[in-house]
Amino acid sequence: MNCPKCGTALTSTDVICPACGNPINLEEEISAEPINKKAKKKFDVKFIIIVLILLLFIIGFGIFIIQELF
Ligand SMILES: [Zn+2]
Repeated sequence: MNCPKCGTALTSTDVICPACGNPINLEEEISAEPINKKAKKKFDVKFIIIVLILLLFIIGFGIFIIQELF
């Protein structure tokens, strides 16, 4: 991340630019993070649903085989 005012390279801990004193808006970074987490969570839920459907299919198929055997 660089200072939007003077372009000086900043570290993630900088609250103000060490070169020009411009306050660094960290809110943008903070607000951007939950969206990514939400998107990741949405993907995880989708993945869990797919796994559950696959498990149900495997269990159902197993019950079908057991019923055929006995
Ligand atoms: Zn600056």
